[in-house]
Amino acid sequence: MQWFGKIFSVLVLGLSLSGQLLAKDVLVESQSAFKSALKKVVPGDAIVLKNGVWSDFEIGFFAEGTAQQPITLRAETPGKVIISGRSNLRLAGNYLIVEGLVFKNGYTPTEEVIAFKRNDSHLANNSRVTQVVIENFNNPDRDSSDYWVALYGKHNRFDHSYLAGKRNLGVTMAVRLDSADSQQNHHQIDHNYFGHRPILGSNGGETLRVGTSTYSLTDSHTVIENNYFDRCDGEVEVISIKSGKNVIRNNVFFEARGTLTLRHGNGNLVEGNVFFGNGAAHTGGIRVINRDQIVRNNYLEGLTGTRFGSGFAVMNGTVNAPINRYGQVVNAQIENNTFINVDNIQLGAGSDAERNAPPVNSRMQKNLVFNDTAADVFKIFDDMSGIAFAENVLHNADSASLKQGFGSKKITMKRNAAGLLMPQGDAYKNIGAAASLQPIKKSAVGPQWYEKKADRVEFDSGKVIAVDAGVEDSLFSAIAAAETGDQLVLAPGRYKIAKLLEINKVLSIRAKKSGTVVILPGRTTLFEIQNGGSLKLSNLTIDGSESPDSAGNILIRTLKSGMYVSYRLLVENTKVENLNINHSHHFLNAGSRSLAEEIRIQNSEINKITGDLLKLDKEIDDLGNYNAETLIVDKSRFTNIEGALLSMYRGGTDESTFGPHLLFTQNHVEKVGQGSRNKLQASLYLHGVQYTRIGNNQFVGTAGIVIEHTVGDPDTEINANRFSKVPALKVSELHTKGDSTVKYVGNREE
Ligand code: CA
Repeated sequence: MQWFGKIFSVLVLGLSLSGQLLAKDVLVESQSAFKSALKKVVPGDAIVLKNGVWSDFEIGFFAEGTAQQPITLRAETPGKVIISGRSNLRLAGNYLIVEGLVFKNGYTPTEEVIAFKRNDSHLANNSRVTQVVIENFNNPDRDSSDYWVALYGKHNRFDHSYLAGKRNLGVTMAVRLDSADSQQNHHQIDHNYFGHRPILGSNGGETLRVGTSTYSLTDSHTVIENNYFDRCDGEVEVISIKSGKNVIRNNVFFEARGTLTLRHGNGNLVEGNVFFGNGAAHTGGIRVINRDQIVRNNYLEGLTGTRFGSGFAVMNGTVNAPINRYGQVVNAQIENNTFINVDNIQLGAGSDAERNAPPVNSRMQKNLVFNDTAADVFKIFDDMSGIAFAENVLHNADSASLKQGFGSKKITMKRNAAGLLMPQGDAYKNIGAAASLQPIKKSAVGPQWYEKKADRVEFDSGKVIAVDAGVEDSLFSAIAAAETGDQLVLAPGRYKIAKLLEINKVLSIRAKKSGTVVILPGRTTLFEIQNGGSLKLSNLTIDGSESPDSAGNILIRTLKSGMYVSYRLLVENTKVENLNINHSHHFLNAGSRSLAEEIRIQNSEINKITGDLLKLDKEIDDLGNYNAETLIVDKSRFTNIEGALLSMYRGGTDESTFGPHLLFTQNHVEKVGQGSRNKLQASLYLHGVQYTRIGNNQFVGTAGIVIEHTVGDPDTEINANRFSKVPALKVSELHTKGDSTVKYVGNREE
């Protein structure tokens, strides 16, 4: 029978050979050519998109490959096929591969840029999307929600890709478990570069979410490994796990404002991850909720976050919690983690009347806690007897609340070749993260052919351009011609501005010599900051006395609504006066859904304004949005302002953001807020501001300060101010009972 076997194997070989000979690459140059190629495609084939820009291309890649012979859709040259305009990609079927496409200069008209499904009944399985780029592919309506990548089906892989610059509402990447066909999915998400995600200023800015609360008791078995999360600052959750049995392994979180949160679902494994906060604001680590979670061999360094955004938090929950609330922590194993200069380790976080069940049957052992100062970084909010603490080592600090299971030692640390600080000496060999831990390098993730760019252009990083006062419309023309990062340097003289100055790039405008340049707005608005715009004004005088004689003039405004790129505004050594031709002449009026990353006014003088100075109060629909992340006002003089100096509003009950922040220091404020049109009856009106420091200012003959605390844990200090003929501070706690948490210390009232 030997001959039969021989002939049979030759036959099979011949068949598979002929199968391979039939497999072909089909180069297509148009959307219609793609569609006809797709009709003829057989296992082993590749459809190759010709290099160039493909506009308004909704790619439907529906086919059936086999494990041995998948069907591929790829770029002729990786990175040279640009998908732009209103475009997206849906793939459905089995054994499909998509490779080398770049999505930019557009946005998806549907819910997803890349979806692993055609519709709810036709999903992708056993398929792979690799080496794709999605960059700044944003719906210009920031409230219009979409996902950049949504995984459905089972056994799919998304790898070596680049996702950066998402600015509209919606998770960057989501694993969906909405039907049985997408549960126990065993997806793989690896070697991706999750680049900068700017602060969204509301909920819905997570970078990666696995599951939703509805299906959270279902296991997902998704593996998330060797990814790099670079400044994923969208909101408080960088990764939100909302399903069971996922593995989150060997990822790096670089200066990410937020945490890896085990929000819903049980039995997840978090190991070998490295967090480098570098002391940046609101950098967080890992937050543990629910049952059977294992957190081991992670390395966390330089994290400043607190509360739910802490470097490490184990939350209180509720026994038999409703599915969308907080499950009690049961059987958590937290071991061999290293915490270095992590400002907050919180146990029983969120303890309140509802979240009244502390962790049980859990252990925390062989962890290393090292701080340069002897500070006690632990905060304990409930009875922690449900956690067995053993063999944990604290450097040079006794934690008052945690004596059992913690030894205080003086440890010498040394940074190893992988960039991690490790304790010296054999005594610590089995304490903290393993010496073999190797954080994935930024260069090892994403497509190798795509450069990882800095997302933000700094002021004054470009050319210096001279502007002459004697030439008609010289400033207008210089702004139009400038490139982002440039600085316009104005020669001495008076600049009458006859046209709206539209700022859609990063620009700085300054006088060559302080006190020699006067800008005279001639229109109802001087500057409009648009998407991509940021503005720095230095050494100027802006005089409103030649403004049109109409009510409601504005010196600086943003787009009136729907701005989706956040901006910066800096005003320094600048004098603004005579915004008083008619009533309600405002200095800055932010449009709804505009978000300033930072507004800074320093060493400036503002005098004679009939309206408000800073109107950051357009988000009155109470959805948790606000108009400025950080506002800094320092060493400046504000006099004769009829409206409010500041109106800042952040409403609603959402807790997924950190801002707004206000620093108001060393200013002189006189005759402010007393005009009859100032409905707020306040000089500073703060509603829902999360962080406030008002210190070392003088208020003379002004309206009072009004503070309304809402949700979160608002942190407000009013220190060392002098109030002369100013009504008393008004504080309301709108969401918590009991005394106000405002710290009011060392102020002088006369
Ligand atoms: Ca969220």
